[in-house]
Amino acid sequence: MIKKCIGCGAVLQDHDENEIGYVSNINNPICKRCFRIKNYGEYISANKSYLDYLKLFNEIKKKDDLVLFLCDILSLDESLNKINEFNCKVILVITKCDLLPKSVKEFKLKNYIINNYKLNIVDIIFVSAVKNYNIDLLLNKVYKNKNSNYVYLVGNTNSGKSTLINKIIKNVRLLPGDITTSSMPATTLDLIEIKVYDDLVLIDTPGIVSTNNYLTDLNYKDIKIISPKVTIKPITYQMKPKQSILIGNYARIDYLSEHSNSFTLYLSNNINLNRISLNTNNTLRNLAKKSFNLKSGKDIVINGLCFCKIVKDAKVDIYVKNNVDVFERNNLI
Ligand code: GDP
Repeated sequence: MIKKCIGCGAVLQDHDENEIGYVSNINNPICKRCFRIKNYGEYISANKSYLDYLKLFNEIKKKDDLVLFLCDILSLDESLNKINEFNCKVILVITKCDLLPKSVKEFKLKNYIINNYKLNIVDIIFVSAVKNYNIDLLLNKVYKNKNSNYVYLVGNTNSGKSTLINKIIKNVRLLPGDITTSSMPATTLDLIEIKVYDDLVLIDTPGIVSTNNYLTDLNYKDIKIISPKVTIKPITYQMKPKQSILIGNYARIDYLSEHSNSFTLYLSNNINLNRISLNTNNTLRNLAKKSFNLKSGKDIVINGLCFCKIVKDAKVDIYVKNNVDVFERNNLI
């Protein structure tokens, strides 16, 4: 017999902690997430695969409600291309803004996003849930743009959805007992409602799991190392021909051009960088090679791990795990 959580109605299961309806013991009547909400006022977002995301997208598309699309400031490119699939109002919420150095100005980032992506959005806002930055402004924008009492939160897993929801819950001083969750009837997806005020219900959607991100399939220890927690201290190398950079034991950049160049890496401060000789040291050359012939003013993005700002034209070979997307874009900073 299928058992459902008495809190949210999700089907209970004891095999995947990251999925909806998880219980450590299948005889528990309430899922881990509802238990934590009710007892500690702590919210955990759930995750779904890309196929489920398509179902979710079709579900939301039918509605006329406001969508908050969350995008981690360090994963702009990967997420942003999904926005235009929504034809309802979307506010783009750029999360974890505390991770970039203060010298990076918000209006420049905003212009970058507007100029480089043709996004169908009503507004952009930069927030940091950890620093409680712009959370009130976000709620103001929600009230200005919402069509109904329902507002959907959408984003990749790790985009900071749970942290943002927890911050809102804390800021509006909801007590654990005031947080109501329920799975929405008439949908095949497990959407969770969080009633913030009488006229504002946030609907959390499962995070979309990306398969071409460095974090995919990584062990807990490495996830901790490569996920930045505090403001990134960029590191610049004046690269000479035939030099390489080792990014921990995660990736390698070979510089193949004949002129000197400037490479600035933005990544977790916990990752060790090493500049080595291209020809005499073969470390990490066993990984998958991706070659680029870059014009001046480009970044190389290693999805989920780092980005590297390169000033002049550059020929580079990047060695990285096979599934990980590596791509170029105009300099973000
Ligand atoms: P979710 O999968 O979208 O629910 O993402 P989480 O809320 O679990 O956040 C993923 C990771 O990003 C966690 O390690 C969080 O601590 C971190 N994180 C979330 N929001 C922020 C933020 O505003 N600033 C920083 N520095 N880290 C954040």
